[in-house]
Amino acid sequence: MIAKSSSFLIILSAPSGGGKSTILNEVLRRAENIDYSISYTTRAPRGAEQNGIHYHYVSEADFEQRIASGDFLEYAKVFGKSWYGTSISFIKSRLQLCRHVIMDIDVQGASQIAATDVPYVKIFIIPPSMAVLKERLVKRGTDSPEDIQRRLDTAKKELKCIPDYEYLVVNDDLGQAVNDVMAIIRAEENRSTRYQNPMQGFLEQEN
Ligand code: 5GP
Repeated sequence: MIAKSSSFLIILSAPSGGGKSTILNEVLRRAENIDYSISYTTRAPRGAEQNGIHYHYVSEADFEQRIASGDFLEYAKVFGKSWYGTSISFIKSRLQLCRHVIMDIDVQGASQIAATDVPYVKIFIIPPSMAVLKERLVKRGTDSPEDIQRRLDTAKKELKCIPDYEYLVVNDDLGQAVNDVMAIIRAEENRSTRYQNPMQGFLEQEN
């Protein structure tokens, strides 16, 4: 029998406020074979965020210690302000269980992962326009005007990385954007190169 294709990382990147977390949560709700990678960060919790659910909140010293111990698959300083990183042990444990891991990381982290041998698919999500992005950030009400400006400036730079992503999803209609991400994951599961020796599996039961 042909074995299931191997699991992979689903990397979502988007300008902050692009609706990425909403899409991500909906994908997690719908899919049974995907786990979320909770990042480590040195930034403080925002609003109702909780440690161990939205992020693992750690001090700069703790983060540096983890870098030195090789705990991160990737890490980066985002908005020139706080550190963010992905736990290598969590990723490995999930992939070994044949589960996909979805993550919300910036363009620097995504390119670091692309340079490893961990299987992945990279999806970039954007709102329909810069004006919509600004409006969403202001409405969110969690960031200072300086932070909003910093996030918008970063967004402009990040858009230049779109060609490095296999897929682009425009988040105009949330339901449609979630459908698109689900469709991409499904297609990637069927990518022929993700199967290990499918021909052998097929021929095994020749008689
Ligand atoms: P926020 O502070 O709004 O939660 O996230 C800020 C940015 O950090 C977002 O662009 C998000 O994708 C990115 N980010 C979150 N976790 C990680 C991570 O583990 N690694 C990297 N490189 N970026 C991350």
